[in-house]
Amino acid sequence: VEKDLRGRRALITGASSGIGRKTAEEFAARGADVAVASRREDVLKELAETLENEADIEALAVEMDVTDETQVARGVSSIVDAFGGLDIVVNNAGIGCGGPITQVSTEEYRSVMSVNVDGMFFVTRETMPHLLDSEGALLFVGSTSGRYPRPDYPIYAASKWWTRGFALSIAGQAGEDGVAVTLINPGTTRTDFGSSFRASNTEKYDAGEALDPKDVAETIAFAAKQEAPTTISELAVTMRDSL
Ligand code: NDP
Repeated sequence: VEKDLRGRRALITGASSGIGRKTAEEFAARGADVAVASRREDVLKELAETLENEADIEALAVEMDVTDETQVARGVSSIVDAFGGLDIVVNNAGIGCGGPITQVSTEEYRSVMSVNVDGMFFVTRETMPHLLDSEGALLFVGSTSGRYPRPDYPIYAASKWWTRGFALSIAGQAGEDGVAVTLINPGTTRTDFGSSFRASNTEKYDAGEALDPKDVAETIAFAAKQEAPTTISELAVTMRDSL
């Protein structure tokens, strides 16, 4: 792998599993220092240790529930203290919910909105000053569900339509000051996604029936290395036969 992210300092949320985890591996392989953040600190510590052993980079495990603005603020300042700044932020942590709307509990609704919406807001607000300093890159993991109606999971789809609206608006706001903003919309990907409300995607789909998270991670890395004045504003990663 070409070390095309050598020396970049990255934060990835939701890095303990799935797309976030593969993105951390991909960034490390390309030479970036990575802060891996989520709620499960034990998993993150193991991941950070593996990344440091496999690549000549620095890795930092950061316990950060993105729904808690205090934890986000504390986490971001610990990363900036350790790395001396931030060049890449991947807003990836996200969860789903589905089923007939009459059966969606208020608790489920609030938890999806607090991770997928509040979380992306808190992480963006907290990291933006550092990205402005470095003229860095801010990446959002949206979804093809953020572009099309999804009758099977309206709350999740709506949260990803929010992500798209937010990301593309922030692109205009921060772009003037040199921050590159990219929205990446993966199609169905074989991860633990879905396990909170149905069988996980890994259980539902065999290899080859849905995207491999590594494919999504490579796309995120491709977007992360773009240099001024070019920005890839939006990318869809899908299986050839589906949206
Ligand atoms: P996973 O379930 O494998 O990973 C979700 C990650 O989010 C975990 O690392 C989890 O870590 C973290 N997370 C959940 N809640 C919180 C929280 N409150 N604070 C911090 N981290 C949290 O799913 P994916 O990798 O598939 O999902 C990643 C992103 O990709 C999501 O935004 C999802 O919507 C999006 N996506 C997924 C698709 C798919 O088909 N899989 C398709 C399109 C988009 P922990 O439990 O340690 O906190």
